[in-house]
Amino acid sequence: MRRFTDDTLVIASHNPGKLVEIADLMTPLGITVKSAGDLNVPEPAETEDSYEGNAILKATHSMKCTGLPALADDSGLAVEALYGAPGIYSARWAGPAKDFRVAMAKIEDALGLIEGQTGETPDRTAKFVCALALAWPDGHVEVVEGTVEGRLVWPPRGDKGFGYDPMFVPEGHEETFGEVSQDWKHSVSHRANAFQKLMDGVFGDRDG
Ligand code: IMP
Repeated sequence: MRRFTDDTLVIASHNPGKLVEIADLMTPLGITVKSAGDLNVPEPAETEDSYEGNAILKATHSMKCTGLPALADDSGLAVEALYGAPGIYSARWAGPAKDFRVAMAKIEDALGLIEGQTGETPDRTAKFVCALALAWPDGHVEVVEGTVEGRLVWPPRGDKGFGYDPMFVPEGHEETFGEVSQDWKHSVSHRANAFQKLMDGVFGDRDG
């Protein structure tokens, strides 16, 4: 993997929840982080059909608009019983109002429908997936993927985190990502997991 030796990195995301998490992870490395929103980079349409494809598309778009290296995240929640949905469409399930109570209720409704049709309790296993792509101005791209396994609960619990956090309990635990400290979430999450791979391969030799 190519090493990152620059001082500044654009975070190609307009999602405030993700920006906070990524900035938390990058700051100890001594890298100045700028958000795509602060640099007036428009949000590109996510037209690819995979997390990795969309992460590469977003990173490359921000890199071309700013001339700076850019890091993008594409993530989502994959529910086993729904064949991986909402998946790359996780943000869209919240509708134009970005209301994740609505998105979580849609998942619960879909699970209820399966139960009604089959008479069996649906598999509530789910995982968060995160692809991270880093695009350099010369066109070089590195991409990694991380996951965290868990199960869905209903009703949602907790008011921390963002998105689907209040209905997701990571494997081996009882509290949802909406109930735990965000420091702890950042240490076990799909994003942390993907970041660890970037730390090992791309940011590894930095001394902060
Ligand atoms: P995108 O990567 O911008 O397409 O958006 C991914 C969507 O997945 C987010 O808007 C959230 O709804 C969901 N998501 C991704 N990561 C997390 C997380 O850590 N917690 C809760 N929801 C998440």
